[in-house]
Amino acid sequence: MESKIIVAIDGFSSTGKSTVAKQLAKHLGYIYVDTGAMYRTVALYALQNGYAKDGKVQEKLLIANLANIHISFQYNPSLGFSEVYLNTVNVETEIRGMEVSSYVSKVAAISAVRQKLVALQQQMGESKGIVMDGRDIGTVVFPNAELKLFMTASAETRAQRRYDELKQKGDTTVTFDEVYNNVVERDHIDTTRKDSPLVMADDAVEVDNSNLSREEQFTYILSLVKAKL
Ligand code: C5P
Repeated sequence: MESKIIVAIDGFSSTGKSTVAKQLAKHLGYIYVDTGAMYRTVALYALQNGYAKDGKVQEKLLIANLANIHISFQYNPSLGFSEVYLNTVNVETEIRGMEVSSYVSKVAAISAVRQKLVALQQQMGESKGIVMDGRDIGTVVFPNAELKLFMTASAETRAQRRYDELKQKGDTTVTFDEVYNNVVERDHIDTTRKDSPLVMADDAVEVDNSNLSREEQFTYILSLVKAKL
């Protein structure tokens, strides 16, 4: 029998990590975990409770209330992937909007938040058979993952993808410039924060998908996975 592995996928915002992670998990019969959704859920909680406003996050208040945040995933068979829940509420759609996007990297820079979420992520991967995407999966969460990928694409390409996605979901107010600026701002915060900055693990394979179709990318990545099984 083939042994199950951990596939860690890291990279900048909107590099298509989740698309390829979902494809892979489905193909392999593995669990897919979107760790960005977990940080987004904490940012949503901060917004809902007034701990994030006027561009700032009230760190102390958020940290004092971390124990009240319960994050879980529930598989949605009609979508073919798991949706994220904040306490008992499905927040999958709400966490993708611009308001959460504008606070999430500030929330994700807080060490206490990272400790809580990393512990949860490590528990989820205990039995392997998991594809997890994020910023620190190959470096911090699963430094011994059998396969590590690091996804990149130009900021323009990434902003265009995100903009198209938001439009498609019915956001009529967002502008390309807003999305572009958010992508660049998150890249900056994610790569320069003190705790677990976004950096490519030494043993990761870099995948620049600026000029790859989804199919080409998937075929390539699947060949990397098969070499590890
Ligand atoms: O992947 P996504 O773009 O949804 O992630 C949202 C934000 O969450 C990132 O910009 C980053 O600040 C944070 N994040 C993180 N570590 C992870 C996953 C996401 O800091 N493992």
